[in-house]
Amino acid sequence: MRRDNGDLGSDFRSWRISAWLLMSFCVVTLLGFSAVCGSVMLDMRRGEEALARQTMENLVATIDADIGRNIELYDLSLRAVATNMIEPEVTSVSKPLLHMILFDHAATAKHFGAIQVFDAHGDLLLDSSSLRPKPENRADEDYFEVHRDSADRGLYISRPGLHRSTYSVVLSRRITGKDGAFLGVVVGSLRFSYFHDLFGRLQLQPDDTITVFRRDGVVIMRTPFDLDIIGKDLSNVPGVLRSLTEPSGFYTRPSVVDQLERLYVWRDRGHPLVVVVGKSWETIFSLWRHEAQRIGAVMLTLIVLVIGATLVLAREIKRRARAEDRLEELATTDPLTQLRNRRKFDLVLAQEWRRALRHDEPLALLMIDADHFKTFNDMFGHQAGDQVLVRIAGCITEAVMRAGDCAARYGGEEFAVLLPGLAADAALVVAENLRARVERLSADKWATTISIGVAAVVPTAATTPALLIEAADKALYEAKSRGRNQSFVAQAPQLSLVA
Ligand code: GH3
Ligand code: MG
Ligand code: MG
Repeated sequence: MRRDNGDLGSDFRSWRISAWLLMSFCVVTLLGFSAVCGSVMLDMRRGEEALARQTMENLVATIDADIGRNIELYDLSLRAVATNMIEPEVTSVSKPLLHMILFDHAATAKHFGAIQVFDAHGDLLLDSSSLRPKPENRADEDYFEVHRDSADRGLYISRPGLHRSTYSVVLSRRITGKDGAFLGVVVGSLRFSYFHDLFGRLQLQPDDTITVFRRDGVVIMRTPFDLDIIGKDLSNVPGVLRSLTEPSGFYTRPSVVDQLERLYVWRDRGHPLVVVVGKSWETIFSLWRHEAQRIGAVMLTLIVLVIGATLVLAREIKRRARAEDRLEELATTDPLTQLRNRRKFDLVLAQEWRRALRHDEPLALLMIDADHFKTFNDMFGHQAGDQVLVRIAGCITEAVMRAGDCAARYGGEEFAVLLPGLAADAALVVAENLRARVERLSADKWATTISIGVAAVVPTAATTPALLIEAADKALYEAKSRGRNQSFVAQAPQLSLVA
């Protein structure tokens, strides 16, 4: 079933709007989707960072507690030896008994070295591992000198290094006489194997680092194990400085060892050593990155698919709109003259009538009829008649220039021209101009003249377009009866005509 032209027109617009709306909807949807996805991924990233920090804080607390406990345990033994050494009875007992008194309760573990006692000159007095130790003098070692030069160093932890041919850190305490005199030092060692064993029990990623600092910033131990960095003073590295002075926190910076950007976390519980755990951002975000890449790939595929489908749909909608345009043109155009046909003219007349009614403006109509056309056809044939109709249509197109004007083939050899806003006298000017053009053509024997009926009216609620047509028709009839090749303005008393 065919729709009428008015419906077709509004359909075209809605099709066009639909194509545009579809694209906008697609863009807005994709942007919205991307924003939600982006925000979720950022949240996930923040979550990964928070989780990594929490895990590292737990790890650093565990390591710190283990090291602190072992050092405390060992220190207790050193302190016991330092205290017992100044008892006066000590000088009177035999060496095996002295060994028993001093070292029997001393902490022994596979990672603790022998406890040694040196006198005020640095000479070895006692060794927990032997009743008859080889003579040694340690007067020029740092752990001897600090106690000799200062009475209140407490527990001193040396720089890491080879001690009695084993890599270890030396822990020492001063032996102070009851009168405050320096009587020597008691020395023990904590082997590197302790740290290796401790760190070996932890599940670490290849890029993870654990660094144990002495309070002055000297590296006591680091995993991954690197002898070059052990013993170095890193107190001038800003993050390290913070970890030595603040009780807990985190910082991020490239490592001084491998330049890898890491998150570093520490927690200082007042133990002699400070532990800092580092994890590379690469490792922290590896799972997230993997997930983000997966989601990103899925999103990208969806976006490409949606854009592709939308473009195909939009193209189809445009194609249909063009087809509908063409269809409307065909349905509203007269095939011979290319003017609008009667159907379109009726619709435009109804529209313009309503518009003129709303704005209280005049509406003029020219009814045009070819003179003696039957005779022309009889003389020159129907095809020649058709050509003349085409030429008359050309004249109408030239004479009726305004955008709102509507020229149509009304039927057979009759034409109608709607002139919105024109009163009868202005419409008569247009009519006469047109008639003169056609008349000029009729100098050629292959042409004819036209008669024009002119009517104009300011529409009122009580009038209809039919009355305007009727008035123009009557005026045309009058033009014919007055001799043809002329225009005549309607004088219909039932219309409020505008002259
Ligand atoms: P007049 O209008 O001056 O009174 O005389 P007329 O001969 O034009 O009379 P009428 O309007 O009654 O005749 C219309 C003629 O127009 C009849 C028909 O042969 C011719 N005609 C109508 N439509 C066409 C058409 O499409 N092509 C051609 N060639 N002729 C047509
Ligand atoms: Mg006629
Ligand atoms: Mg005629």
